Amino acid sequence: MVLINVTMFIFCALFLAMFIYLGVIVSRSKIALYNNSYNNRQELQYKYVLRGSIYSSDGEVLAETRVDENGNEIRYYPYGSMFAHAVGYAVNGRMGIEDYANYYLMHTGATLSERVNDDLENVKHPGYDVYSTLNVELQKVVDDYLGSYNGAVIVTEAKTGRVLVLISHPDFNPGTIKEEWENITSNPENSQLLNRATQGLYPPGSTFKIITALEYYRENKDSWQDYAYTCDGSIEHGDYRVSCIYGTVHGDLDLEGSFARSCNSSFVNIGLSLNRNSWESTLDSLYFNHAIPTDMVVNSSSAYIGAGSTDYDIMQTSIGQGKTIMTPLHLNMITQAIANKGVMMKPYIIERIVDDDDEVIKEFVPESIGTVMTEDEAAYLTDLMMAVVEYGTGRALITDSYTCAGKTGTAEFAQDINESHAWFTAFAPAEDPEICVTIIIEKAGTGMEYAVPLAKMIFDAYFGV
Ligand SMILES: [Zn+2]
Repeated sequence: MVLINVTMFIFCALFLAMFIYLGVIVSRSKIALYNNSYNNRQELQYKYVLRGSIYSSDGEVLAETRVDENGNEIRYYPYGSMFAHAVGYAVNGRMGIEDYANYYLMHTGATLSERVNDDLENVKHPGYDVYSTLNVELQKVVDDYLGSYNGAVIVTEAKTGRVLVLISHPDFNPGTIKEEWENITSNPENSQLLNRATQGLYPPGSTFKIITALEYYRENKDSWQDYAYTCDGSIEHGDYRVSCIYGTVHGDLDLEGSFARSCNSSFVNIGLSLNRNSWESTLDSLYFNHAIPTDMVVNSSSAYIGAGSTDYDIMQTSIGQGKTIMTPLHLNMITQAIANKGVMMKPYIIERIVDDDDEVIKEFVPESIGTVMTEDEAAYLTDLMMAVVEYGTGRALITDSYTCAGKTGTAEFAQDINESHAWFTAFAPAEDPEICVTIIIEKAGTGMEYAVPLAKMIFDAYFGV
C-alpha cells in the first residue's frame, strides 16, 4: 500500500512537472508560435483586429492602416521608401518592424465592452501601436546623401544600443511592394530586399585595423608605444607583396601614426608579429563567426585566424582583406563597445508598445551583451581613432562643434580603386560618446573621400550644428 502511494506520488509529481514545463515553453514561445504562418489563430486575428501603427521615436507615423469608404484596408507608409528595410512590409511575407512586432500589431487592448461596441458598429478592434527607436531627421539626411548609391548606414546610441538610423540601398517602396513584387523578385541581382545594414557581408578593409590594433595592444601592453616602422609604400613577405593605398610612402611611423594614416604595410608587419591563437580568441570574444545577439534578422561576420593560418592569410586579414567579411551592424557594435568603455549593448529598434489609449503595454530597455574589452583597451582604441580625425584619413571631420573618433576603410574587391567600397565607422563626442555611425557605400572609392563627409552631415544634424 505504501509502495503504491509512493509510486502514485512520483507519477503525479512527474505529470505536474511536465505541465509546468509545457506551460513555460508555450509562454516563452508564444510570440514565435503566433508568428508562425501555419498558425490558424493569425487568420482569425486578421478578421477582428485592425493592424496597429508604427511610429518613429518622436511620434511621426511610419506605417498605418487606413480603411477606405468601401471598407478596404490599405497599409500606408508616409515616407515611401525612406524606411523600407527598417520598417519593412507586411504583404507577401514580412520584414523589419512589421515582422518583429507583428504579434503586437495584431493584438488588441480593447476591453470587453469596447469589443462589443466595435462588433455592433461592425468595425475591427485597434491593434497595439509600436514606437520604434528611429529618428526621422537623421534617416532623411542619410537617405538624401546615398541617393542612387548602393550601401548601408546604421546609427546607434553609444550607451544604449538604440538604433536611430537604419538604411539599406537599393530600397523599395513598402506601400507598392505588392504590385512591384514580380519585378523586385525577378531581378535578384539588384537584391533590393536584402537588408545590407544587418545582412550584407562585406570585406571590412582598413576598418578591421581596429581589431588588429586591439590584438597588438593585448600582446604588447607595456611596449606598444615603442613600435616603429618605416613604410616605403609596400611590404614583401615570402612570395607576397601588399601595397599602401595609391602606393603612398608613409615613411617613419609609430603605432598611432600607422593607424591614423591607415598604412597597410605597417599593419601587415604588425599582423605577422601576432600570436595566432590569442588573436583567434580575440575574434571569438568580439562575435566573429558567431550569431550576433539581437532580435533583428542578421548575418554572422567571418574572420579566420588560428594556428593553421598561413602567412599570406595573416597579411590579408591584418588589413581586413582576404576571407574576412563583416556586416555594417557588427562593425557598428564593435565601435559602440569602444565608445561605451568596453561594454557591448544589444542593438534594438523597438522602444515600446502602447494601446489605443497610449497606455504602455511593454517597454524595451537597453541590455548589455557583455564586456568585450577592458576600459583601458577601449581608451587606447579611442585615442587611435581620435588621431584618425586629428591628422589622418578622417581630417574632414575636424570642427569646433564636437570631437570625433573614427576609422576609415577602402575595401578592395576589384583592381580599380574607384570600384572599392568606402567605409567609415565613428563616434562623437570622443570624450563622452553619444552616437555611433557606421557607413558603407558600395563602389564609391575611398572611405576618406566618400564615407567621411556623410558622417559629418549625420553628426552635424545630430548636434544641431
Ligand atoms: Zn604605408
